[in-house]
Amino acid sequence: MARIVMKFGGTSMAGTERIRRVAQIVKRQAERGDEVAVVVSAMAGETDRLVNFCREANPLYDPAEYDVVVASGEQVTSGLLAITLQAMGCKARSWLGWQLPIHTDNAHAKARIGTIDSEELLASMAGGTIAVIPGFQGLTDDNRITTLGRGGSDTSAVAVAAAVKADRCDIYTDVDGVYTTDPRIVSRARKLKAVTYEEMLELASVGSKVLQTRSVGLAMKEGVRVQVLSSFIDENAPSADTIPGTMIVTDEELENAQVERQLITGIAADKNEAKITLTRVPDRPGAVSHIFAPLAESNINVDMIIQNVGRDKGETDVTFTVPQADLARATDVLQNQREAIGYNRLIPDTKVAKISVVGVGMKSHAGVASTMFTALAERKINIQAISTSEIKVSVLIDEDETELAVRVLHTAYGLDAD
Ligand code: ASP
Ligand code: MG
Repeated sequence: MARIVMKFGGTSMAGTERIRRVAQIVKRQAERGDEVAVVVSAMAGETDRLVNFCREANPLYDPAEYDVVVASGEQVTSGLLAITLQAMGCKARSWLGWQLPIHTDNAHAKARIGTIDSEELLASMAGGTIAVIPGFQGLTDDNRITTLGRGGSDTSAVAVAAAVKADRCDIYTDVDGVYTTDPRIVSRARKLKAVTYEEMLELASVGSKVLQTRSVGLAMKEGVRVQVLSSFIDENAPSADTIPGTMIVTDEELENAQVERQLITGIAADKNEAKITLTRVPDRPGAVSHIFAPLAESNINVDMIIQNVGRDKGETDVTFTVPQADLARATDVLQNQREAIGYNRLIPDTKVAKISVVGVGMKSHAGVASTMFTALAERKINIQAISTSEIKVSVLIDEDETELAVRVLHTAYGLDAD
């Protein structure tokens, strides 16, 4: 007997037929004698629809009431899945976020999970009842409903898995695992048997939309064993216990697994960054902090930063990137600080893409960055900014060259499937 948390995303829950297919997968797992909890998303498109209603009602809506509205999407699918399981002869019941409860802080629309009361839940699961839990939602200390930020059901699933000490958290989605890159861009992309938490964290944060970044961080912290696998399977598909998907593992597990590793594990592209250049910033101590301190105060995350070598008259240009969604606010902040910073022009650019190559192999090998620069140069792709971490190199390029760059790099690092 194992204790398994299963999570199904919006595409898998979109409509009666698909929910029936999900119920079949869940039933199969329960019939193996496992204790099962299922975390579900709202039907695909539903959260967007609900968000729009809030915006129409008032663009400056109260986030606490927004949470009341958008949490309803998952309430519907959790009830429907319980009904469908019951119709197949399974014992099942739903547990809404407030019924467990899943305690969160009070940062509405982007709440963080604290603890989950799981005693009753565990007793019910031990009695053979499948627990169906809506993802994305929780409860504040003063009993208000919260949601966890878009894509938050992944985090709900991992948090539930940690709370019930699950043997595995299976994230069923519309792809059958984590790939070396987006298979829609590179048809020879390969499915990975395993990635490390660190790699997945980097890949998720640079635009591979398989898992919410926060869920990966939580899984790493809590040591939750996560598998990403496809929900679009039939009765003949191998059981999830045979690990048909991609496992997220520790560095040690990966080494022990001795799967053949390339230097680079994956390549991700992110078109949601914007570039800002400030020209003729005074080249003196403190100038850069005048730029970035007010941005930090406004909670705007700056990613890549370049300060050019000072030119004549002790002036320099400073270029950096921010999330595109924050560009308007960033521009506003910087215009208000124009006197203090002392720049000449502010040049925004949204036609950029960040391409990142990720791999733990980088820690012990040199030359990863230069392979990247050479491959891009051969295709005359211009690099506008660079940033690196221990297991990642990112470059900023023209958005129109995204697909080309990803393809070229996939080949350069020997990732193409034969
Ligand atoms: N339904 C929510 C969203 O669309 C949460 C989720 O599906 O993960 O963002
Ligand atoms: Mg998702």
